Amino acid sequence: MANLKCPKCQGKTQILDTRSRADGKIKRRRQCFSCKYRFNTFETLDKKR
Ligand SMILES: [Zn+2]
Repeated sequence: MANLKCPKCQGKTQILDTRSRADGKIKRRRQCFSCKYRFNTFETLDKKR
């Protein structure tokens, strides 16, 4: 989950912004290096029990 590919051109993406939410999920804003397409991803933290 570290390096997501661009959904449009499969290019490399960079993380523009990372925000943790109250529900425990992490929202990341990403942008493609190649086509500049921006999209958001939601990741769930693995909680240790
Ligand atoms: Zn792209």
